[in-house]
Amino acid sequence: MSSNDKYMSECIELAKQALEKGNPPVGSLLVFEDKIIGRGIESGKSSGDITQHAEILAVKDALSQGYGDILDQSVMFSTHEPCIMCSYLIRHHKIAKIVFGISVPLVGGQSSDFKILETETIPKWGKKPEIESGLLQHECELLNKQFADYLSKTAQ
Ligand SMILES: [Zn+2]
Repeated sequence: MSSNDKYMSECIELAKQALEKGNPPVGSLLVFEDKIIGRGIESGKSSGDITQHAEILAVKDALSQGYGDILDQSVMFSTHEPCIMCSYLIRHHKIAKIVFGISVPLVGGQSSDFKILETETIPKWGKKPEIESGLLQHECELLNKQFADYLSKTAQ
């Protein structure tokens, strides 16, 4: 298993923990030189606080451990494409590379109309990060299906 696959598998495990509490199944990690420096489990729905997206929580976890200075040399892994809200934070901290499983077309920072993850029109954000998508895509799609099943059950 490549190290990228290993980190994405860990994101999927975090995403399952999110789902167990009724959240969209999103898990996120920040990695610096093959060391995990931040973890995030989506909890926006269970907490009623929309800022509790997995990617934001991963960044906050890294910041709380004193890793703020190396975020610009770190890689973010996430089961899902970071949304436009999380993309702002990612660009603010100049996170070097983003690896995600599946796209989120309506509100994704790369695939939606609002390309916060990729824009180079904001000078202080500098160059866009390297972006790699489709890692363990099938497994991530399965998470979405499990969430859809969960929602249909709870709606009854
Ligand atoms: Zn987000």
